[in-house]
Amino acid sequence: MSKSDSEISNKKHLCFCVKIHTMSKEMQLKITISIIIILLGTSGVLGYLFYTTHKNNISEIQTLNDIILNTESTLTQKEHDITFLHEAFQREQERNNDLEERVQEAEDVLGIIVKIQNTDKELLQKYSKVYFLNEHYQPEKLRKISDKYIDDSREQEQYIHSNTWPFLKDMIDEAEDDNVDLQIISAFRSFDEQTNLKSSYAVSYGSGANTFSADQGYSEHQLGTTIDLTTKELSGSYTSFATSYAYEWMLANAHKYGFTLSYPEGNAYYQYEPWHWRFVGKNLATYLHRKNLHFYDLDQREIDEYLVEMFD
Ligand SMILES: [Zn+2]
Repeated sequence: MSKSDSEISNKKHLCFCVKIHTMSKEMQLKITISIIIILLGTSGVLGYLFYTTHKNNISEIQTLNDIILNTESTLTQKEHDITFLHEAFQREQERNNDLEERVQEAEDVLGIIVKIQNTDKELLQKYSKVYFLNEHYQPEKLRKISDKYIDDSREQEQYIHSNTWPFLKDMIDEAEDDNVDLQIISAFRSFDEQTNLKSSYAVSYGSGANTFSADQGYSEHQLGTTIDLTTKELSGSYTSFATSYAYEWMLANAHKYGFTLSYPEGNAYYQYEPWHWRFVGKNLATYLHRKNLHFYDLDQREIDEYLVEMFD
């Protein structure tokens, strides 16, 4: 700006101030009131704008609060629904488990019934001086005993009830581990074989044959679960088996393999037969061993309870 321009501006300003000073007081008052009215108007408009904006915000916040409350309520309801469904599911699951248990129990009972039906009741029958096994009786299944288990004095093949064989084999093998040399002299004997055997004894010993080859013992051999034992050292002898270490071993261990001594010393049923062992199942043989009882001491009803687990 040149010096002359500045001077002109200053003069204009001075002129304006002079004009104001020269205005009448009435005019000045009018201007002041106008300014106040403008200010009041402006602040009123601003206040209104602020008020409406704030009101809208409050309304929106209220709406959001309502939405949040509704959402919370819905969530709570859903949680209740989920809890209810979960509990209903658990109850249903428990019912299913109960049902499964009952089905399992029924299957177990059915299994036992089938097992009992399929187990030959004669296998745990007591044969007394008045109760013999039917002459037509045949064991359900027999198997040949390997020659290595048969005493050399026997030329005939020997057979045993197939389910008894694994127990008998285990017993003889375990005995061998203890240096006990068990050998089988006789196992299954049919009615006819026994009749012939008894006739030959009768020829040799007359009526005395009844004391060591009576019907009772033959019945047990006809079952296929009974054996007569000896050792190699005894060379097929029956009677001296009682004095052998093998007999002691049998008294201490036979029950572990399900065998029991049918006719112990001093029994009321038959003569003492230390060589004659009958398979009755591990549980019954162990029970007899623990109680120091013998098979023929028990009631038939008590013995029958062991039938279902005889080959377990
Ligand atoms: Zn015998």
